Amino acid sequence: MISVSMPTYARIDLAFERGEGAYLYGEDGKKYLDFGSGIAVTAFGHANDHITETIQKQAAALCHVSNLYRIPEQERLAERLVLSTFADTVFFGNSGGEALECGIKLIRKFHYHLGMPERHRIITFGGAFHGRTIAAISAGNQAKHIEGFAPLLEGFDQVPFGDVDAVRAAVGPETAGILVEPIQGETGINVAPEGFLQSLREIADERGILLFFDEVQCGMGRTGRLFAHEWDDVIPDVMASAKALGAGFPISACLSTERAAAGMIAGTHGSTFGGNPLACSVANSVLDLMLAPGFLQQVESRGTLLRERLETLVVENSAVFESVRGRGLMLGLKCVLPNTEVIDVARGEGLLVVIAADNVVRLLPPLNVEEGQIDEAIAVLCRVCSQVS
Ligand SMILES: *Cc1c(COP(=O)(O)O)cnc(C)c1O
Repeated sequence: MISVSMPTYARIDLAFERGEGAYLYGEDGKKYLDFGSGIAVTAFGHANDHITETIQKQAAALCHVSNLYRIPEQERLAERLVLSTFADTVFFGNSGGEALECGIKLIRKFHYHLGMPERHRIITFGGAFHGRTIAAISAGNQAKHIEGFAPLLEGFDQVPFGDVDAVRAAVGPETAGILVEPIQGETGINVAPEGFLQSLREIADERGILLFFDEVQCGMGRTGRLFAHEWDDVIPDVMASAKALGAGFPISACLSTERAAAGMIAGTHGSTFGGNPLACSVANSVLDLMLAPGFLQQVESRGTLLRERLETLVVENSAVFESVRGRGLMLGLKCVLPNTEVIDVARGEGLLVVIAADNVVRLLPPLNVEEGQIDEAIAVLCRVCSQVS
């Protein structure tokens, strides 16, 4: 008999009763150190005081009114995102997939608005993950995601990640934009090669097409900058944000320059829930914490510490681990042994980490992880090594 929750997930047989900071308390009576953060979502751990108080206060005042009316909390959030990024304007949705959807529509509308409706194709990259809507799986074009869902959305051309020449060759008269994750998450923490994003910017400028960054996973402080592309000294025309934006409360954003959003006039796009007072208040409280002086530098230095400790672990356990990759607190351990085995044994020892493709284990601790918790995670991974090898 089918499970009452549609069986689209291969779930681990473990549930949690509550969380506190970097820890989750399981129904099995055990305490777990959470280095997965619900897949890069709970950036300030569980039950953070500031975020919890915001939810309680806003829920008691006003949750939802619809975008038929002005929403001051949404205006404030948009203004803060605009002040902190390349963007001039922001559309709010409820999930990463919706932010991608908005960006894809915006890119097509941009060229239509300029009188070039033939420009509708978007270049994407091998290994990309942009979500599970039809548009998103069409953009990602991964066999395991698209099988059985044809016909897909037409208009995506995929080239190898990091291959500038292939991008140049793929741009044609119908090309409208380039969509890329500055760091690919689901595919195993692949950082864009040095200079790659800058080359994409040059190609986009030369050919009059738009550059769209998917920062759903790598953005919102994860790498030690508010957005990962800031490391590369390059700006997009459009960007998707979600996951940590609400730190556990569902909200996403599609950020754009004024020029790129020229076609997105009243009536062209919408969302019933998107940007409601509750979601925006929570995201504002996330920004309070993230933009606090010194916070992002702390993320960077904790990331450096975790990385150094992992590098040592890899050297000392070359039969289990091959290498470390990533940036800030978005790190991947490429395994020699099956990653599933490493993850299962780590969980048994009280450490939660996340699977990725390419036999990688993702470490995505809360951004306010403490140094002692990094020590604790490394101690568990050492125990994992002695158990499996
Ligand atoms: C998670 C993710 C998405 C999809 O987000 P949902 O909220 O699951 O729709 C899109 N892009 C990237 C890079 C992601 O990591």
